[in-house]
Amino acid sequence: MSDRLFEELLEETKRLFNEKYGGAPQVVVAAPGRVNLIGEHTDYNGGFVFPMAIERCTIIAASPTTASSATIFSNNMNATSDFILKGDVTPSNEVDWTSYVQGAISFSIKKGAKVPGFNAVINSNVPLGGGLSSSASLEVAVATLMEELGGVSFGKVEKALMCQQVEHVFAKMTCGIMDQFISTLAEKDYAMLLDCRSQKPEMIPFVDPSVSVLITNSNVKHQLTGSEYPERRSCCEEAARILGVSLLRDVSLDALLASKERLVGADNGDLLFKRAFHAVSEDVRTLKTAEALKVGDWETVGAQMYASHDSLRDNYEVSCPEIDALVEIARGIGMNGGVIGSRITGGGFGGCTVSLVKTDKVDEITQILKKEYKRLVGKDATIFSTRPAQGARVL
Ligand code: ADP
Ligand code: MG
Repeated sequence: MSDRLFEELLEETKRLFNEKYGGAPQVVVAAPGRVNLIGEHTDYNGGFVFPMAIERCTIIAASPTTASSATIFSNNMNATSDFILKGDVTPSNEVDWTSYVQGAISFSIKKGAKVPGFNAVINSNVPLGGGLSSSASLEVAVATLMEELGGVSFGKVEKALMCQQVEHVFAKMTCGIMDQFISTLAEKDYAMLLDCRSQKPEMIPFVDPSVSVLITNSNVKHQLTGSEYPERRSCCEEAARILGVSLLRDVSLDALLASKERLVGADNGDLLFKRAFHAVSEDVRTLKTAEALKVGDWETVGAQMYASHDSLRDNYEVSCPEIDALVEIARGIGMNGGVIGSRITGGGFGGCTVSLVKTDKVDEITQILKKEYKRLVGKDATIFSTRPAQGARVL
């Protein structure tokens, strides 16, 4: 199933390359999107996240030319643009798809890639703007192409950090390290436990083929006022300050509970405590999940996922009725129906849920989710299943 999707994307990309530029591409690279299994809103607290790469990726097919610039067609945008092959390009104020590409080209050159002129086609089956990090997969794919064309190897962690900078500087999105790390470092049949403070990844085997990951897009994204994320962050920072640590990562759950009075007594204290309680307990759940996955203890994994969802809904208040409906439908199907666990994934206020399900029940569960979501919410959910996929590579 997934291999078929990949082959189709690859064939289409090569065909488009031939149509646009003639002949076969000399270099083809791919980099995946991702889903976070658990560990939400922990990154900026220096805590743990637990993503895996999905079987959806960005493919780039390219050949060097004698030109002094690069010409790139994005099939997803149905647009062609020329790119400057210099390390010191000023990011444009308006962010569009070319920002990600130009950023990854320029930072690669700055890092020592001697990039010749080239023609390329970009083609992705990661949904754009769907919370599965099409942006990181694009940056990492371009950086991987630059290594290939430019005769250098950045090292995987260096490449991920460089792509994070692309997102910060060229796409003006101050993201954490998760997306670029997993798109670069992922391995097939592994999820990645990432310590966002030390930036040390630990690969955790997820080999059992009888379990799959179901990604359900609610197809809603609630309009935010823009104050939601800063409010969550500043609550965490304020709680850390009151507790005398630099990051909430440094507070144990016991210590947090023991200091509850100090937090609750502060201005806005109940809210501070709720936000901090989520951040601290989510780290505990994420570590527990990784340990349980190692030994195939699916019941524990599932329980952590539901508890994560409940905390994001009640303590961190970043869920929404549509996403809650999807999780409750999954919870209702239960272990006997093949659902191990389910939760909101991503920043919140819409987007996707991630569920662990029995592989042989994927079709059945998909049908129930679609039907019940339509009945309860009146909308269509988009659903696909995946197993942990491999990171960026040259084909
Ligand atoms: P997400 O990363 O969750 O998919 P973002 O808003 O961070 O959402 O990134 C989506 C943007 O990344 C798109 O609007 C586009 O500018 C760029 N992008 C991603 N994939 C492609 C692609 N294949 N071709 C051109 N631009 C892309
Ligand atoms: Mg993104």
